Amino acid sequence: MRLILLGPPGSGKGTQAQLLCKRLDMEHISTGDMLRDARCHDTPLGRQAKPYMHSGKLVPDDLVNDMVADRFKGDNRPERFVMDGYPRTFAQAVSFDQVLRQQFLDLTGVVLLVVDDAEIVRRLGGRWTCPTCKATFHVVSQPPRVAGICDNDGTPLVQREDDKPETVRERLRVYHAQTVELIPHYAARGLLRQAPGEGDIEQTYAAIIQVLNIQAGPPC
Ligand code: AMP
Repeated sequence: MRLILLGPPGSGKGTQAQLLCKRLDMEHISTGDMLRDARCHDTPLGRQAKPYMHSGKLVPDDLVNDMVADRFKGDNRPERFVMDGYPRTFAQAVSFDQVLRQQFLDLTGVVLLVVDDAEIVRRLGGRWTCPTCKATFHVVSQPPRVAGICDNDGTPLVQREDDKPETVRERLRVYHAQTVELIPHYAARGLLRQAPGEGDIEQTYAAIIQVLNIQAGPPC
């Protein structure tokens, strides 16, 4: 299965991509994680991406498109995957269509997670992330067992710098200005499915499975 998850920042794309990958044996491809890794390792790409990420703006299309095209080259290219956070602009969607065509890979579907802006601001304001395993927690709706510590590996949790309120507002503005354009692009090809993303993690997972009309996979 080859999926794209679309939705505003904080709609649960990362969490749902992780679940889908664990339960249905797919690769999770998150351009946000790839760019954060590049920044951690202080690569040229990481240095170029930093000012955009810091202010909630999109990293230029050519940088992100090249990074994704590289990931799909060679023997260990993903066969079954969930794209999380890519494509995010029309130019990225066109580039990704071409990458997939060259690799003879067809998309199974594109799932749009529907969550309204007020809920996004509430969620991201309380979101804490594990820098090691990338798990996310929420101070109110999904607190870790020990405050400030990842349940999975004991790493101290951090708040992403782009989850600060003014950056969240900019990320939402960018989503409405640019990513929303992708909806008709995939709808025209009969690939788009909409799933409500305001429930809890398992409700949202069930909604995704239902709109894709597939088996849920073993719980984990
Ligand atoms: P995310 O973790 O997907 O919310 O991404 C965090 C930040 O990384 C975004 O606010 C952008 O600055 C950058 N980023 C991630 N994916 C993309 C993309 N597909 N295009 C441009 N910038 C991206």
